[in-house]
Amino acid sequence: MLGLYVHIPFCQALCSYCNFNRGLFDADLKARYVPALVRELREAGDGRPADTIFFGGGTPSLLEPAEVAQIIDACAGAFALSPDAEITLETNPETVTVDRLAAFRDAGITRVSFGAQSFDDAQLARLGRIHDARRIETAVEAARMAGIGNLSLDLMFWLPGQTHASWLASVDRAIALAPDHLSLYLLELYPNAPLKEAMARAVPSTTAGTASDDWIQASDDEAADMYLDALDRLDAAGYGQYEISNVARPGFESRHNLKYWTAGAWRGVGCGAHSTVDSRRWHNVAATADYVARITRGASVEVQPHLIEPRARIEEALFTGLRLSAGIDERAFARDYGLDPWAEYGGKLERAVDAGLVWRRADRFGLTRRGMLLANEILSVFV
Ligand code: SF4
Repeated sequence: MLGLYVHIPFCQALCSYCNFNRGLFDADLKARYVPALVRELREAGDGRPADTIFFGGGTPSLLEPAEVAQIIDACAGAFALSPDAEITLETNPETVTVDRLAAFRDAGITRVSFGAQSFDDAQLARLGRIHDARRIETAVEAARMAGIGNLSLDLMFWLPGQTHASWLASVDRAIALAPDHLSLYLLELYPNAPLKEAMARAVPSTTAGTASDDWIQASDDEAADMYLDALDRLDAAGYGQYEISNVARPGFESRHNLKYWTAGAWRGVGCGAHSTVDSRRWHNVAATADYVARITRGASVEVQPHLIEPRARIEEALFTGLRLSAGIDERAFARDYGLDPWAEYGGKLERAVDAGLVWRRADRFGLTRRGMLLANEILSVFV
């Protein structure tokens, strides 16, 4: 089953840490972008079965519900969309009301993923977010009133100035809202991120002892404790961890995102969207105006199409499969890829097993939670 990804590159404000493919909202560009998406979908359609659609961005909830309906209709026209498809809208809390969310639900949205990030207003302001903690709560209430039955919240940790206690307070406030799914992301700072520059300006004066220390990031050890303690609280609240950064109530794991971690197939439409179908991989041109211009004149938007080599597929399946709490089923892997992963790599993983970072039982192996913290180092044995 194919997963469909629809990229919406518009935001109301640009966050200080973000390097996604997005730009400021432009009503004229959006008015040309939506028909371009519909046209790309029509031309991509081969009637293949699909069971998820994920509107990601950017801020997809800046679209009008009628535009979302039009895109979902185009997906259903181009592919054999399951009647029970999971259709997710990434949503910024400040963009929605009960009426808008009800209209998104009527358009076909079955799952809303809120970019909450933090319940600390000072941290949200520093991240450049334009909502506050109360707005997250209002948005979640609105989604419930609108009849959205599957809600997810994103939270971020290792923020500058974020203490262990303030992080857990955000986790507790998220749990109190009883979402069905939560994603916990570690802040990653790209080289020229405004937030990184602000931290660099603040920290030297901190070391000179003159500035507040609230721009400092927790140490690696503290960040590890933040992660592990948050997961303990989520365990106690009935959420099961199923991936390094994701927990869910039973049955609410993200069907779309699981395709990325289980070597599934996905077709992305829109500027910069990535696709992997039948060992073929490509991405679309990144610039929104260029994407619209090419689609309008009937030119290709594909960049770097290539076949994934068998060896690369194996490595990727190991990397992504070990992100999952369920780990890798050795027999299924051998059947799908013609390689017994434990026979091939088990020797190199023994030390990690002894150190409690990798588990192995009943022909499966995976990363323990402490192992997940060191995933990059452990997974380097596969390359
Ligand atoms: S709303 Fe999301 S996509 Fe837009 S700038 Fe902020 S983090 Fe980036």
